[in-house]
Amino acid sequence: MHRRFPGGMEGKIGDGMGIKVAKFGGTSVADAKQIGKTVEIIRADADRRMIVVSAPGKRFETDTKITDLLYLLKTHMEQNAPYGQVLQIVRDRFLETERELGVNADVADEFRIIEARLEEGASADYIASRGEYLSAKIVAAYLGYDFVDAAGLICFNAKGRFLPDETRQALGAALSARDRAVLPGFYGTHPDGTIKTFSRGGSDITGALVAEAVNAEVYENWTDVSGFLMADPRIVENPKGIDFISYKELRELSYMGASVLHENAIYPVRLAGIPINIRNTNRPEEKGTLIVSDEIAKERAGGRDIITGIAGNRDFTVIAIYKNMMSAEAGFIRRVLGILEDYDVSVEHIPSGVDTLSLVIADRYLDGKLDDIVDDIERKAQADSVEVFENMSLIATVGSGMASRKGVSATLFTALANVGVNIRMIDQGSSEMNIIVGVENADFETAIKAIYAAFIGTDRA
Ligand code: ASP
Repeated sequence: MHRRFPGGMEGKIGDGMGIKVAKFGGTSVADAKQIGKTVEIIRADADRRMIVVSAPGKRFETDTKITDLLYLLKTHMEQNAPYGQVLQIVRDRFLETERELGVNADVADEFRIIEARLEEGASADYIASRGEYLSAKIVAAYLGYDFVDAAGLICFNAKGRFLPDETRQALGAALSARDRAVLPGFYGTHPDGTIKTFSRGGSDITGALVAEAVNAEVYENWTDVSGFLMADPRIVENPKGIDFISYKELRELSYMGASVLHENAIYPVRLAGIPINIRNTNRPEEKGTLIVSDEIAKERAGGRDIITGIAGNRDFTVIAIYKNMMSAEAGFIRRVLGILEDYDVSVEHIPSGVDTLSLVIADRYLDGKLDDIVDDIERKAQADSVEVFENMSLIATVGSGMASRKGVSATLFTALANVGVNIRMIDQGSSEMNIIVGVENADFETAIKAIYAAFIGTDRA
């Protein structure tokens, strides 16, 4: 395990060495059997002292997550439809888990309180938060750890904006007094004590905040996959796992669609230099993916593959603008971007060349606005010509090792040429950590397979 302290500071008293924060996702606490695995993992390492849990997730493919049921319940309330049946399903699941584990977590009493709150017209956030709340109560009871509610510790202002400093302080104060605790993920409170949730998947954020507050040695994020893969397994058959990756590389891959961890979970631990370890509750013997600082990733770069991963997204539109002597005209780019702002459209990438400028826009933002935007660019920005390429995909090939190697783009472009994929756009970030290519949607999978095969080996698909 990598320590995050600069030389000489390791092992200082009070520096948090010896505390591992372990967050378990929905499938890890889906039922008594999964909680059994989770608890076994926790008990296998005495340093796993601070535990954060999600609400119970799916037990099988066609099952429904507790959080989804709770939102469904709220929808029933809003439509003035009876919600008793949905509530019953949720209650039965928790009661069954409590019974099967043979613990007393006051589930029946808690549901009486929840029912009373529902009758008063509880908020969606309160209702959704009960999944995590009860999950944490049950796991705490089974482990014999303290249950510490996130209410009052994860702080939001009255408008619902997250307050990092207050949270760090409140969590630090509450947890320093405890040897071992289980906390519910996903929610906190407004100053008046009412519940506020993060966005979906937000228990990852709670875990990161707890890790930061107790200055953890590592933030373990236990889920149902063994970390990140180098490519989407739905496209590349049996892709290699990523052993370690830097926060920056991860950000690039997540932005392009690779998702295991909530994006906002990275920031607090990255700032504190705490590594994140993505692990699989169903395969605890596997090491998973370790997310480390850029410096550590560089140190370990020897022996790594040239690239760290490939990710991509479909459905973009590229607006290619040509204007003679563009670079000599002050304010041209500002005018073009001003037009997008007028239509409330955000732009993903802006590759540019001599007299050309391309705007890469996700289709979900365009929503019938494309023709008007093109008209405005021609008229207001007085472009000489504007061409539109629709049905485009973006594919990012990411790796911090790319900057120092020669021939990376040659390998990439040759691989695509060999399978007859036409590259419509190229964008290399100034960090030289990624190369993004734009290809037609129809070529998306072929292109990813070809890139994987060129850098990593033969794709067996
Ligand atoms: N239970 C919440 C959700 O399903 C939060 C989480 O699991 O992270 O989004």
